[in-house]
Amino acid sequence: MTNKKQNWKPATQLVHSGVLRSGFGETAEAIYLTQGYVYDTAEAAEARFKGEEPGFIYSRYANPTVDMFEKRMCALEGAEDARALASGMAAVTAAILCSLKAGDHIVAARALFGSCRWVVETLAPRYGIEATLVDGTQIENWEKAVQPNTKLFFLESPTNPTLEVVDIAAVAALANSIGAKLVVDNVFATPLQQKPLELGAHIVVYSATKHIDGQGRCLGGVILSDKEWIDENLHDYFRHTGPSLSPFNAWTLLKGLETLPLRVRQQTENAAKVADFLAGRPEVSRVIYPGRADHPQADIVKKQMKGGSTLICLDLKGGKKSAFAFENALDIILISNNLGDSKSLITHPATTTHKNLTDEARTELGIGDGTLRISLGLEDADDLLEDIEKALKAAG
Ligand SMILES: *Cc1c(COP(=O)(O)O)cnc(C)c1O
Repeated sequence: MTNKKQNWKPATQLVHSGVLRSGFGETAEAIYLTQGYVYDTAEAAEARFKGEEPGFIYSRYANPTVDMFEKRMCALEGAEDARALASGMAAVTAAILCSLKAGDHIVAARALFGSCRWVVETLAPRYGIEATLVDGTQIENWEKAVQPNTKLFFLESPTNPTLEVVDIAAVAALANSIGAKLVVDNVFATPLQQKPLELGAHIVVYSATKHIDGQGRCLGGVILSDKEWIDENLHDYFRHTGPSLSPFNAWTLLKGLETLPLRVRQQTENAAKVADFLAGRPEVSRVIYPGRADHPQADIVKKQMKGGSTLICLDLKGGKKSAFAFENALDIILISNNLGDSKSLITHPATTTHKNLTDEARTELGIGDGTLRISLGLEDADDLLEDIEKALKAAG
């Protein structure tokens, strides 16, 4: 067992941290595909239920393979404790609902992944939780939204799909000043490019479906925080409502973590090259890429991110017609609403991921008819640029 705190750099942690090696001495992490656990004696069962003896009880509560994934994520994030969940949305929903009760108020940035926005705007109010959505790029907007019953702030940065950046340290300081907590959905940044806990956030959530798997195979999510918050707020909810991650998926995600730094580095390099190429093209009216000097919040990017993004957002001058022609002319970059994959993927948010928003809400978020989001994969950058150049010609 190597669960002690290690003074390793991320690439080493991602290969070795959290391993629970069985008596067989296997190299790769074992998949413990079991629902339950047996006890040698009635006394041993009693002791385990009393918490006097360590050990697993039931895989809805905890499982050795899932435990390895949680411990590896803790090492990477610098968090005391974590729970792995069946999807990113299971993680976001649990992080929000377990922080609040009827009568409380949440302030969230309005630029949110679609399902996250539904949880805040539609689900939470059904249980008596008031919600205010703000333009998160200005700290004054967060301050103005505070009420006496504000208990939670929620944001993602960079945001989907326009890659806006929110000043995490400033929102965390505001949360601390009123005794509230800050939850950061860190999916777009990845755990390598941004460390919300170091910036003052209290809870970090991931859709492990994205870069952590990164190869399009399985869904997963994770919540990381201090031990006290997990014990007091999440522990019982997690045991009794059953959002737990399958051991098989945990194993897949463990294997994903081993190559995460290599993939994120290559995908970020590809994204930077594609962003620079697009910025010089006459068919393109706007390129948003955290890492370029012309990003609207370039100063905050510099302050809180260790690298650029694996995603870029662009606007084509010809609107929806051009955007569709561009997508349809691509051979390598695939049309898909997913992201963080080894395959490059492109999305037209206005007609897919953000089609349920009102025209007004889309305009507020900067999503136009010509807006496209590209998630860069692991292909050769020259092939990608050739594919894009050909598609730009088709887009006119
Ligand atoms: C994908 C995503 C989610 C939801 O994750 P699932 O694993 O699909 O449930 C939440 N937040 C962000 C920013 C995402 O990209």
